[in-house]
Amino acid sequence: MAEMQDVVIIGGGAGGFAAAIRAAQLGGKVTVVESTHYGGNCMNTACIPLTFLLTVAGHVDLARKAARFGIQMDEPKVDMEALHERKDLIVDSLRLGTEQQMVDYGVTLIEGRGKLVARDMVQVDPLPGSSLEQQRIPARNVIVATGSAPAQLPLEGADLPGVFGTEEAIQLREIPGRVAVISSQPWDVELAQYFHAMGSAVTLIHSGDQLLPQADRGCAQRLAKRLHDTGITIQRRADVEGIRQEDDGSLKVLLAGSEREVVVDKLLAARRLSNSAGLGLRQVGIEMEGASVLVDERMATSVPGIYAIGDVTAGAMWSHKANSEGIVAAENAMGLASRMRYDILPHCAFTRPQVAWVGLTEEEAEAQGIEYEVGKVPVAINPYAMILDETAGELKVIACKKYGKILGAHLVAPGAVDLINAVAVAMLAEATIQELMDFIPRHPSIGEALVDAAMDVKKRSLHMPKW
Ligand SMILES: Cc1cc2nc3c(=O)[nH]c(=O)nc-3n(C[C@H](O)[C@H](O)[C@H](O)COP(=O)(O)OP(=O)(O)OC[C@H]3O[C@@H](n4cnc5c(N)ncnc54)[C@H](O)[C@@H]3O)c2cc1C
Repeated sequence: MAEMQDVVIIGGGAGGFAAAIRAAQLGGKVTVVESTHYGGNCMNTACIPLTFLLTVAGHVDLARKAARFGIQMDEPKVDMEALHERKDLIVDSLRLGTEQQMVDYGVTLIEGRGKLVARDMVQVDPLPGSSLEQQRIPARNVIVATGSAPAQLPLEGADLPGVFGTEEAIQLREIPGRVAVISSQPWDVELAQYFHAMGSAVTLIHSGDQLLPQADRGCAQRLAKRLHDTGITIQRRADVEGIRQEDDGSLKVLLAGSEREVVVDKLLAARRLSNSAGLGLRQVGIEMEGASVLVDERMATSVPGIYAIGDVTAGAMWSHKANSEGIVAAENAMGLASRMRYDILPHCAFTRPQVAWVGLTEEEAEAQGIEYEVGKVPVAINPYAMILDETAGELKVIACKKYGKILGAHLVAPGAVDLINAVAVAMLAEATIQELMDFIPRHPSIGEALVDAAMDVKKRSLHMPKW
């Protein structure tokens, strides 16, 4: 039997990595069990490779409008082999760095499939072809960090050839002529924009009124308008009824309650479900909600000493959420008292323009009976946005009327995914709208528009038309 560990972590992805390092920093004996690649979905098949592709797509679009900056050049050509080679290089070096960092902290790394066989015992089954033997590791605390797994949409025809998921989309070497994307998550919209920049005719299909249903309505509308203006077809309020294969191999996407149908070569139709099967969670008494593990703000499950973090729990699927939950779980496992702050969790879409938000929307503030004030500034009046030639968007700040507490911010702007961090820090520090107004942004920068939006809350923006 292996030596007793303070913390055994099942899954070495975005959440598991953070938990391992933090528990080791606090002096714990830590083991991580990983069944595929360290760095998880985030590093290997999602955030990192996709953000690389989106960055390339942005460069391609920029090259296309080079003449607006006085640069004469031909239509850009993308060498897909070179593109994927560089993507893989970045992914490999980050993955190796992650693994080495855990080794440097004295974390024991075990390759295999982990599962709970008792409240305080993790069994590791060897992977196919491995020479390692099955082993059991006694644990004072266990952190379940097994992420999520791709799943087909429950649609007739979802298993047809040509229907693909995000992992395949990111690896695709040949850009399809016509692609449809059934969108529910920000990365679906991001992939639609990627394929469009690379030359596909793209249709974005979403049910309900709003693209990015999680976002502020105005932000979602601005993004949808921008996508439409650049040539992406958007099918709103479109529930997909089924998918058929045509004789020529193309796919016909049938939309419910209408004559509308979309014919494409490839269809991105994917979702992700918490990866909790076969982990022995229910057997040891852990309460679940469907496939997701139920946890409190300490990341504790219903069984003392067992924590769960990241995509295997309910809620938004973000690497930075998994990461932060990993730190909280590790600190609690090591005897500290930590809690997650979901109220300051940033949400983002790495689209062009970028969309990012934190805190309450106006609807949420209203539903909570909070009297609030709003400040808004269009990106179009910001000098740096003009220099970038990226003037679509708006920055909105919401503050409590009585005390000026910052309740939320909703940004559609170049650099929004970085700027939102500043608002989250201000909210963490319980800054008021006055402090956001007092902040001195660099000139010229998009940050100036954020300060202006804060000033607009008090109707003293320097650049908005005079009240
Ligand atoms: C296309 C796409 C793009 C995305 N882009 C972003 C983005 O830009 N920003 C962002 O914040 N989020 C993004 N996300 C979401 C993000 O990838 C996840 O929220 C994040 O990876 C969750 O971290 P995790 O630690 O819970 O899971 P993961 O990072 O997936 O790690 C789970 C690990 O557990 C391992 N594992 C599973 N079962 C076992 C077992 N039984 N034994 C041992 N190991 C096991 C897996 O191999 C994996 O390594 C994206 C998601 C997708 C699909």
